[in-house]
Amino acid sequence: MDTITIKDLSFKPYISETDLQESVKQVAQKINQDYQGKSPLFLGVLNGSFMFIGDLMKSINIDCLISFVKLASYEGTESSGKVSELIGLNENIEDKDIILIEDIIDTGNTLEKLHQILEEKKPKSIKIATLLYKPEAYKKSYKIDYVGKEIPNAFVLGYGLDYDGYGRNLSSIYVLKD
Ligand code: IMP
Repeated sequence: MDTITIKDLSFKPYISETDLQESVKQVAQKINQDYQGKSPLFLGVLNGSFMFIGDLMKSINIDCLISFVKLASYEGTESSGKVSELIGLNENIEDKDIILIEDIIDTGNTLEKLHQILEEKKPKSIKIATLLYKPEAYKKSYKIDYVGKEIPNAFVLGYGLDYDGYGRNLSSIYVLKD
């Protein structure tokens, strides 16, 4: 793996494909154990989670449903400021066990919005799985139930994660060079 340049920034290799696949398998094993006899709905948060959820599902051996959602933000009225809307969720999730699949949790702002919107729909439970987690940046109190890898507060790219839309197709993770 070599240094790569995307637009104005250079990135160096950080987490290899082998390491990533190992972490993904470990997350799948824990979910398989915890959800024995249950039939959860995996909700992949687009765009970033598409590779993670694709690989994760190959090692999930319980009955399950899979769907994808996206958080869209738009300017509301002056009083409401930014409004977040969940798009793509067509099924009724009342009384369902939900496992949210995130690419990365940084400040936790995205997670908080998703959680609040989903809670209103009265699921039985909501658990959170993320490939990467930046504990130093996280400002919320939601428990992150399944973590692939904890990383320091640095900007990373690849395996679904982008810089200005590019780099999502890389099969391993790169980190911004300083
Ligand atoms: P949060 O709302 O601050 O937790 O950020 C979550 C979202 O920001 C992720 O779903 C990513 O889309 C994006 N993000 C956060 N950190 C990174 C990073 O290091 N590289 C690429 N995208 C990131």
